[in-house]
Amino acid sequence: MAVDELDRLREEARGLAVEMVRLLASRRAVVSRIAELKRSSGLAVIQPGIESVLRMAMVEEASRHGLPAETVHRLASVILSDSVTTQERKTGQQLTHMDILRRAVEMQRNGREVQRLEVGEPDLGAPQEVRKAVSEAVLNGFARYVESRGLPELRAAIAEHVHERFNTEVRPENILVTPGGRFAIFLSMKTLLSPGDELLVIDPSWPMYKQCADFVGARAVPVKTSLEDGWTPKLDEVEERISSATKAIILNYPNNPTGKMLSRKYFKQLVELARDRNITLISDEVYADYTRGEHVTVLGEDLKYVLIQSFSKSYGMTGYRAGYIVADEAHVSKMASILGLIMTCVPEFVQHGAMRALTLRETPKQYADIMMRRMDAAVRELEKIGAEFYRPDGGMYVFPKVGIREADGMKFALDLLESKGVAVAPGSIFGGYDQFIRISLGAPEESIVKGIRLLGEYLREKGLA
Ligand code: PMP
Repeated sequence: MAVDELDRLREEARGLAVEMVRLLASRRAVVSRIAELKRSSGLAVIQPGIESVLRMAMVEEASRHGLPAETVHRLASVILSDSVTTQERKTGQQLTHMDILRRAVEMQRNGREVQRLEVGEPDLGAPQEVRKAVSEAVLNGFARYVESRGLPELRAAIAEHVHERFNTEVRPENILVTPGGRFAIFLSMKTLLSPGDELLVIDPSWPMYKQCADFVGARAVPVKTSLEDGWTPKLDEVEERISSATKAIILNYPNNPTGKMLSRKYFKQLVELARDRNITLISDEVYADYTRGEHVTVLGEDLKYVLIQSFSKSYGMTGYRAGYIVADEAHVSKMASILGLIMTCVPEFVQHGAMRALTLRETPKQYADIMMRRMDAAVRELEKIGAEFYRPDGGMYVFPKVGIREADGMKFALDLLESKGVAVAPGSIFGGYDQFIRISLGAPEESIVKGIRLLGEYLREKGLA
């Protein structure tokens, strides 16, 4: 008898779960109609305020039924993510940055001259000393399994470097050596965000942040900034986008793609906001050395943070895959065990290269000088063609507005590539900034100058300048 009852209840529970899927499908159909309306009236996919109304309605309903708020927040995040993906599909953003890169390489292979201004990689390469140190380390057999956190000598060297460079005391226990900044970001998100949690991202933003949040089952919630506001996020908007599901906020200054650097005063206000709301700050500072002015760092701030650093930009060591995290000791342990689980450790000889790099005090300055010279050249040329843009404070990109009429920046970038042989990253990939393009300073100055002149020619021909 009890068995019959159990079967009946199981069937009923299954039916209710299936009904939830049906409801999701009906909701999707409504969302698709919303997407069409938004597109025809030129509205953005995400409208601040609308999401929190839905979330609150769900939480109220949940409390009427005695459901745990945590579960309902997760469900709200799933539903809201589904809305955004459905709407983005409708507005047709399927092509990626990689399509531009692939086509540029193909054109070069066919003998076309292409100005490669789309790649986010400095062309400088690692210093000879680092190349030599790695080769010697390999020849001397430094290629064994080592500690997941990184070699003690390297962690001690990083702690010393951080102290010298950023005037902040950190201990080797606070440091985790990672295979590049990208993996460091993954580790921080994997440990800070559970499925359904939210991550605040300041747009325009490096696409990896949202992709990674999505990969760990969390939801990236964008806070939009504009050229008119000098790409400064508005504090009240940041506050408005914080929900009870917000666990972390990721900042990236100097910024990819805008070149923006926040003032110390403003950065502190963001820090205070995060601290008051018990939100962890992930601070991606991989472009810290590519700046003219003072670099504002999260190091030393009194809140829970994860600092992301890399050897890729400061020492041109992109392919070595070397970076590091600074965080509290317990968090470092958690991330180290995931790194250990996945890859045991960063290759020992790479760590020897990183150690040698840290002894080269002039290299980051020399590389930064090259980038700033290229930046000046890019700014000069962009002014000549009359493009609107924020004069970068640092980083290795300029993000001009090029007055594209049609709402498809990817089409613009592909057409510019085909007709003028200039490869750029379309602004659409950084959070829907269709009217902008990102010009990378990772190419020689002549190429940057030529590329921008050709861009000017293209804009004139199309009646856009
Ligand atoms: N953060 C930002 C903002 C970046 O642009 C990049 C590289 N494009 C990285 C992190 C990661 O670089 P890496 O993994 O080579 O350290």
